[in-house]
Amino acid sequence: MANPLYISYTHLSTYQQCPLKYKFHFIDGLGTLYRQERSYFSFGDSVHQALAKFFKIDDFLKRTPDTLQNLLRQSWVSKGYASKEEEADWKSQALSVLEKFYNTADIKIKPLYLEDFFRISVGDNILAGRIDRIDKTDEGYEIIDYKTNRNLPRQEDMENDLQLAIYQLAFSKKYKFIANKLSFYFLNFDQKMTLIKNDENISQTEKKIIQLADTIKSDKEFKPMPNPFCNWCDYNVICPAMGVGLEVIKSVDKEEEFRKTVKHLEMMRNDLYALHKASGDLAGILEVSVLLDKILSVFVEIAKVEKGLLCVRGETGKFSPSVARGITGINELCPTVGCDMKIKNSEIVKDLSSDERFAHLSKKIQGVKSAIILPLTVSERTEGVLILMNKKNRTEFGNYDLVFLSNLADHAAIALHNAQLYELAITDGLTKLFIHRYFQNRLDSELIRAKRYNSNISLLMLDIDHFKKINDTYGHQEGDYVLKKFAKIISDHIRKVDIAARYGGEEFAIILPETGITGAEQVAEHLRYLIEKECFTVDGKSVPITASVGVSSWDKVVSKEEFIEHADRALYQAKHEGRNRICKFSTR
Ligand code: GH3
Ligand code: MG
Ligand code: MG
Repeated sequence: MANPLYISYTHLSTYQQCPLKYKFHFIDGLGTLYRQERSYFSFGDSVHQALAKFFKIDDFLKRTPDTLQNLLRQSWVSKGYASKEEEADWKSQALSVLEKFYNTADIKIKPLYLEDFFRISVGDNILAGRIDRIDKTDEGYEIIDYKTNRNLPRQEDMENDLQLAIYQLAFSKKYKFIANKLSFYFLNFDQKMTLIKNDENISQTEKKIIQLADTIKSDKEFKPMPNPFCNWCDYNVICPAMGVGLEVIKSVDKEEEFRKTVKHLEMMRNDLYALHKASGDLAGILEVSVLLDKILSVFVEIAKVEKGLLCVRGETGKFSPSVARGITGINELCPTVGCDMKIKNSEIVKDLSSDERFAHLSKKIQGVKSAIILPLTVSERTEGVLILMNKKNRTEFGNYDLVFLSNLADHAAIALHNAQLYELAITDGLTKLFIHRYFQNRLDSELIRAKRYNSNISLLMLDIDHFKKINDTYGHQEGDYVLKKFAKIISDHIRKVDIAARYGGEEFAIILPETGITGAEQVAEHLRYLIEKECFTVDGKSVPITASVGVSSWDKVVSKEEFIEHADRALYQAKHEGRNRICKFSTR
């Protein structure tokens, strides 16, 4: 709908009557909300309400004169009266009006609708209003509007009355029925004036309203100017001529409100999409270190912050910074932390530097004021704490950020928990190297990759020499110590892309992607050398430890099993040739 105008009968008629031709801003219910407090409005409203409640009583026996009078007392609107006496005077008038009504009107009627609100489209415009009463009789539908004013119209005024015509139009548009009887019930005179109108009238009314709305729309934008002397209508509090109501209008303008709501909903939709996407992205990452990095990037991007820090629980149960954004010197930070970080729920910290829980951080992180703290918790166990600092748009974190980001944090926590479980499942508890099954899977995929990219791949098989003797001489525990230390030497000296696994007992396998036989021999020799020269202290004594290594490079033909077999054969040969040496596989 292009540029709709929101209109009501009051809006249209006030515009028609206003000698200055000031446009109303129409807002549903504004007539009642912002019109001036006048005795005749209060009187009229009270009578209307009492009558509506009265006709809602289904049991005719309870529709007594007393009931009607009591309903009036209950509904009495005590506003706009100059004095108690004046109010009492209006009240007694109201009571006598209702008494007359009770004696003459058909008080046993069961109205079809009472105070029926409508909102219909007329051309490009939206027309709203409320009909006092709609009756269904044998002759058809009748629209009734109660009038409490003190002058009766002439019959020709009735003929041209826009209000009744609007009600007829609204009724036909809302309910698809035609009301041919349109009545004003003048309560002060106990007189009902009825118009009989056919349905042709409806299309004429529609044209008339569109015309009027067009006139209003094409009217030049008014310039509000304070004019406290205008007294043309009872609605001047919202009339720009008065200037007074303009701010009120702006703040309650439904269209503006609607636009704001749409904007808010759009923002929520985008956020939900981001949440969905981020949660999917995070769930797919099984490597903890990669995941931690991704979690922080996602949060920094979505929360639009300058700085972010992710602290992770270490083996001791203390938290230390793991990844950072917008903060330099994260390594220098590490020794200072390892704190308890007793943070149960997400929270906004207005001033990070004055919060003692983060005192150790704020000294290192300069220029941080407001921050949002998000614990990554699954089953009451907090594995990480996210600290997001300084919104880029320089605003403070609000409740919406808190709710939205802690929602996302729940997803991140689950992803982290899963990755940690996965890592646990593929890691050998003693040596912290990968387990045998993982080695097999990785070798499968690495071989597929090597095949696709026509790249080299090599395999090392390492076995500790005479390890049984260590166990036999010093005990299993000391043997474990040797295994651990041996494994650490390996993991400390291979590349990130290499995959080291505990193949079994005291035998280890290392996949070397993108590595040919010469490179693999160099790695093997380097590791052998490091182990030989390392000082293993067993039972207080320095015990020489050596290893034999079998080296094999994939010939791009053999199966995985044969490839492993080649490395194994080379290892066997190294043992055979005297141990503490490397041997490469050859077909000879
Ligand atoms: P070789 O030089 O021929 O490899 O001799 P070896 O003694 O190292 O080889 P063998 O296979 O005879 O013995 C391996 C020993 O490793 C036997 C086993 O008890 C021990 N072992 C296997 N797993 C573990 C473990 O987790 N901890 C300890 N302490 N010992 C283990
Ligand atoms: Mg051995
Ligand atoms: Mg062995």
